[in-house]
Amino acid sequence: MSDSVKRVYAFGNDANGKNVTEGNTDMKAILGGKGANLAEMANIGLPVPPGFTITCQTCMEYANAGNVWPEGALDTIAEYRADLEERMGKKIGDAKDPLLVSVRSGAPMSMPGMMDTVLNLGLNDESINGLIAQTENPRFAWDSYRRFIQMFSNVVMGLDGDLFENAIIAMKNDRGVSSDTDLVAEDLQELVDVFKGIFSQNVSAEDYPTLVVDGTVQFPQDPMIQLQLAIEAVFGSWNNPRAVLYRKKNKIADDLGTAVNVQSMVFGNKGNTSATGVAFTRNPANGEKEFYGDYLVNAQGEDVVAGIRNTSPIAELKNVDGLEEAGKQLEDIFVILENHFRDMCDIEFTIEQGKLWMLQTRAGKRTAAAALHIAIQMVEEGLIDKREAVMRVEPEQLDQLLHPQFDKNAKYDVVARGLNASPGAAVGEAMFSAADVVAAKEAGRKCVLVRWETNPDDLAGMIAAEGILTSHGGKTSHAAVIARGMGVPCVCGVEALKIDAEKKEAQIAGSDLVIREGDLISLDGTTGIVVLGAVDLVKPELTGDLDTILEWADEFRRLGVRANADNPEDAKLSREFGAQGIGLCRTEHMFLGDRKQIIQTYILNDDELNRERAAEQLYEVQVGDFYEMLKAMDGLPMIVRLLDPPLHEFLDNPRELEVEIARLEAGGASASDLAEKRELLEKIDGFVEQNPMLGMRGVRLGIMYPQLPELQIRAIASAMAKLKKEGLDPKPEIMIPLVSTVNELSLMRGKAEGVIAEVAQEAGVELEIPIGTMIELPRAALTADEIATKADFFSFGTNDLTQTTFGFSRDDVEGEFIPTYLSEHLLPVNPFATVDEGGVAKLVGMGVELGHEGNPDIVCGVCGEHGGDPDSIHTFNRIGVDYVSCSPYRVPVARLAAAQASIKED
Ligand code: PEP
Ligand code: MG
Repeated sequence: MSDSVKRVYAFGNDANGKNVTEGNTDMKAILGGKGANLAEMANIGLPVPPGFTITCQTCMEYANAGNVWPEGALDTIAEYRADLEERMGKKIGDAKDPLLVSVRSGAPMSMPGMMDTVLNLGLNDESINGLIAQTENPRFAWDSYRRFIQMFSNVVMGLDGDLFENAIIAMKNDRGVSSDTDLVAEDLQELVDVFKGIFSQNVSAEDYPTLVVDGTVQFPQDPMIQLQLAIEAVFGSWNNPRAVLYRKKNKIADDLGTAVNVQSMVFGNKGNTSATGVAFTRNPANGEKEFYGDYLVNAQGEDVVAGIRNTSPIAELKNVDGLEEAGKQLEDIFVILENHFRDMCDIEFTIEQGKLWMLQTRAGKRTAAAALHIAIQMVEEGLIDKREAVMRVEPEQLDQLLHPQFDKNAKYDVVARGLNASPGAAVGEAMFSAADVVAAKEAGRKCVLVRWETNPDDLAGMIAAEGILTSHGGKTSHAAVIARGMGVPCVCGVEALKIDAEKKEAQIAGSDLVIREGDLISLDGTTGIVVLGAVDLVKPELTGDLDTILEWADEFRRLGVRANADNPEDAKLSREFGAQGIGLCRTEHMFLGDRKQIIQTYILNDDELNRERAAEQLYEVQVGDFYEMLKAMDGLPMIVRLLDPPLHEFLDNPRELEVEIARLEAGGASASDLAEKRELLEKIDGFVEQNPMLGMRGVRLGIMYPQLPELQIRAIASAMAKLKKEGLDPKPEIMIPLVSTVNELSLMRGKAEGVIAEVAQEAGVELEIPIGTMIELPRAALTADEIATKADFFSFGTNDLTQTTFGFSRDDVEGEFIPTYLSEHLLPVNPFATVDEGGVAKLVGMGVELGHEGNPDIVCGVCGEHGGDPDSIHTFNRIGVDYVSCSPYRVPVARLAAAQASIKED
């Protein structure tokens, strides 16, 4: 080949039926998922229409050069095209027996529906005659031509699809028919001319000088120009906004590029012995072992997923006249594919006049429930082992299972039913466009996106919605596939829903009910029901398959998993979810609501007696808090962190107080009332800091107000003593926050030990309470060896450590410049969500290592938000952290991610 880099790979057979495939399934980074698996299917002898794949690297080189082809690439493509023509015994554009091809995207990671596809390429005014001659079906041929012009104009040239749809409607009106299928060959031929006219009028001659013939833009007749423009469009679609958004949401790198598959067309629309469909080898919603999917007889390409016609279930295919053989062969292939890939596969196929062709296969997207069920079944079937089963479930996906369901005790009327496309229940205001959902979400409202069917342009709205409801489309429709992938509840194909998107309302057929924009509706994607009004939702429990996989995960993981919890309910919940203790109890959270007043009195009162009384009250409530929490965590460790935030957070907001004073003045309040408020304002002003997160908080607070930590420690020790006397096994640990020097910790430790000893003596029980610190300042990490001499444990507060390492205000930057930093590639990830490998994680690693130098027995945990983030968990596993601690609902996610980290490192 003329190019030194291999840019194109053939797949499928040659003219003699010999497999000439050059790739395989392990080459996804080069050939994309679709190309690699087309190659693999051809290699294992399955019927794949021949073609070739242009590599992802070519796409990136083309894009990086500003849409300029790498030297020699077009020549190589021309050679492979000629080779394909030879293999097929047909030429693209031939007037007698033309070869038609599809041009499809295929990235290394599956991005369903995000990028472009062009079908029927190669048709022109000459080859149309060949197609008519070969098929003896002029209607089919003209329909293919008009579809090609329409798709090419829309996908490749970016023309508005409505221009063509309107022309079809005008034609139908003119002919007095209601359905596309009522248009005859002559009508479609006329439409081809109309479409060409639309093309000429709307494509700019300046942008496409090569398309100008006799002074006007013409639909390209040269199949080579068609092919080149189509490939360029697919390359370009890698960077279309919806693909970029999808990658961002799914953490797919922007520099992978997409491959382009040029493949001989086979037709599912050549009459009643032709069909097309999509299928899964098992049920992707619940994982049941059954063939699952839809097909349409006499249909092409995207008709099945577009939801334009209602589809039939795949199990019926082998009973359809003329399709029996292909139907049976397809079921055999399902088994071959599962055994070969040892996974549930998602398949696209076409039957052309009774002959089955495989167009695609990949690991099928599935709900979390299905992922668990399939993994467990496959272990039972001996296809995979437990280790692989644990690797098969995406930790993030588990969130879905922790999704709300309708409360079993709730009473409601079902107003419509559809397909249970993506499990979980949702309640929200009905919104009839993606843009409206996005806007409402930004305003803090919860919405359900209601659409006739969704398409890739709706993605932003689908992400923002609580749930998705469509009136059309099957379980493999766009809405269903995307919703399942995202874990958003979805009910689709609700035929009773008569949607008028322009009026922003939907009528429910057979009733006088109308859903208007903003009306609250509920849907249950597990059962497929729709309800008017809000149904009470409940969180599900951790049982069955999830429990099994997590038990298996526990066999493999090295990292411990604890929970961040500050009330007994969360403590109990985290235990149920398998937490091995509490890694962080933020005691300031115990002073919300009414309790705030106690601290406020303590801080602001000059009167010693009142202060003492407040302190006593604080002590009493804290003993009760710790008693309940320690009881809930009986036998498991519980780290209690002493008060951390700046004092002013417990005080009234001075700005609000100023407004109140102004109002009181205007309302003629008494001088004494006003004076009291003004005095309060003055005091609060005294606590205001320019930079409170770097000010008087954490250990500094305890040093300046020694009575506060003292009473908290006394409360912890007393609660422990009380429980011990009751025969329980409380295991509190005391954590000093925001330490930057060993001296701070040393001082606090001395005090704590004194208080604990006093309580032990008073109560007459032995109290052993480990004392440790948070490592959340760079200086603490850098001097961890010194600090560790005074610490029994470290807990890395990666929220503050990220804040102080980057100098990014954790409360501000995520809404301000982080999005720009991400889109400009100044940061690979949001460092407050996934730990920064290069900097923050380095400090954690250093802290762990130095910590062990200062105290070989030191236990190291992470309790920042990163403790529940799967990617960060991999990092923490690698750098020797002992456990992670996260919110209760993340505990199952963390257990699984920790197991996957261990398995990967093995
Ligand atoms: C941290 O800083 O990571 C942490 C856990 O503490 P907080 O979020 O309460 O500051
Ligand atoms: Mg912190």
